[in-house]
Amino acid sequence: MNAFEEAQEQLRRSLAVFPVSDELHARLARAEREVTVSIPITMDDGSVRMFEGYRVQYSSLRGPYKGGVRFHPQADINEVRALAFWMTMKCALAGIPMGGGKGGITVEPRSLSAQELERLARGWVRAFYALLGPDQDIPAPDVNTTPEIMCWMSEEYEKLTGDTRNAAFTGKALTCGGSEGRGAATSAGGFYVFEALRTHVGLPEHITIAVQGMGNVGGGTAHIFHEHGHTVVAMSDSKGGLYSASGLNPKAVENYKKEHKSLEGFPDAEYISNEELLELPCDVLVPAALENQITRNNAGKIQAKVVLELANGPTSTEADDILFGKGVTVIPDILANSGGVVVSTYEWEQNLKGEHWSEKDVLDKLRVLLNRESENVWEMSVKLETDLRRAAFAVALERLEKAAKLAAQAL
Ligand code: NAD
Repeated sequence: MNAFEEAQEQLRRSLAVFPVSDELHARLARAEREVTVSIPITMDDGSVRMFEGYRVQYSSLRGPYKGGVRFHPQADINEVRALAFWMTMKCALAGIPMGGGKGGITVEPRSLSAQELERLARGWVRAFYALLGPDQDIPAPDVNTTPEIMCWMSEEYEKLTGDTRNAAFTGKALTCGGSEGRGAATSAGGFYVFEALRTHVGLPEHITIAVQGMGNVGGGTAHIFHEHGHTVVAMSDSKGGLYSASGLNPKAVENYKKEHKSLEGFPDAEYISNEELLELPCDVLVPAALENQITRNNAGKIQAKVVLELANGPTSTEADDILFGKGVTVIPDILANSGGVVVSTYEWEQNLKGEHWSEKDVLDKLRVLLNRESENVWEMSVKLETDLRRAAFAVALERLEKAAKLAAQAL
C-alpha cells in the first residue's frame, strides 16, 4: 500500500468503531483540490531545470487548509495527499480552526546550492500563490524545509500579492515574523503528550528512549527528554545511528555530526543501522524521520513498550496490529506530533493581530491544549475499547462531523 492507501485504511478501521455519516466519509475519501506543477529554475551554471511541485488542499471543513511543504527526492502526489489527509485529522483533533493541506517538491535539496534552493522555494510560491493566503491555505515547514526557507516563501508571497500581514506562511524564523517556541513546538508537544499519557500507558518516571532521525523534530525530542532526566539510548540520521545503553548527550552527538558530517566513530557508542535502532531494547521508541518505518517485517522485533510517533505515518496498519498483539502502545502521529501545527496556528494568530507572545506563553498554552486532547483520546479509547490511533481518529471525526453538518446546511 502507498502512504495514501495506508491513511485511508486507518480511516476505514476507525469508522468500524466510530461510524460517521456517508457524507463525511465521502468528503474524507478524497481531496478537495490537488495541483501538480512544473517549476522552472535557473541553475547556477545558467541551465534551466524543471522540478515537480505539489499542493494538496484536502479539507476546508474546519478552516483554511494548513500543512507543511516537503522537499525530498521521494516526495510525490500520493505521499503529499496522505500527509494532507493526516493534517485534516490532526487539526480537527487539536481543535484548532484549520483544515488540512500539504505540499512538496521532488528534489534532493543537498544537490542544490543555497541560491538554487532559494530560487526553487520562491518558484514553488510563484506556482501556487493564487491558492494560498491567511484565509485560504497556510503552508509551514516539513522535511528539509527550514524557518529560513519559510521566510523566502513568505517574502515572495508578499511581493506577488501585496499582502503585508505575514500570515500566509508559518514556521518562519523569528526575524521575519515567526513565533517564539515554533522551532521546538513539535518535539515539546511530543513530550507533553508523553507526560500526559505516561502513567496511563504504564511507564516509570524515568525512561529510556531511542530516537530515529535528528532533524528539527528528532533532534528536539532527544534534547527535551535528556533535559528532563530521561536516558536517550539511541539517535540517528539518514545514514545510521548510535547506541549507548548508558545514554547519549544529544548536544555532543550533534556537535560530532557537524564536525565529522557523520555519526560514525562517535566515542563510547556503537554505530548501528536505522533498522537496528528500531529494534533496540528501550521504553519509548520515537520514529522522527519518514513514513513506513515500522512494517509487518520488523514490528514483531520491536522491543519498546511505547511507540511515540513524531514522524507522520511511520507505522503501517499491519504493523499496528502486530504491535497491539504484543502489548506495545502506539501513541499516534496525529496526536503526538500536533505541537507543530498548534504553534503554527498561534504564529498565524499573532501575525494577524500584530502581537508577539513570549516563549513561555506559547509553550504553556500548547501544554494545556495537549494535556486536554491527550486525555480526550485516552477516554475515547477506554469508551470504544480500542487503540489510541482509532480513538484519536474518533475524536477528530466527531468534530469533523459537526463541521460537515453545518456545511451541508449551506448546500
Ligand atoms: P528534518 O528535515 O528537519 O529532519 C529529518 C531527519 O530525518 C534528518 O535527521 C534526516 O537525516 C533523517 N532521515 C531522513 N531519512 C531517513 C531515513 N531513511 N532513516 C532515518 N532517518 C532519516 O525534518 P523534520 O521537520 O524533523 O520532520 C521529521 C518528521 O516529522 C517528518 O515525518 C515530518 O512530516 C514530521 N513532522 C514535522 C513537523 C515540523 O514541525 N517540522 C511537524 C509534525 C510532523
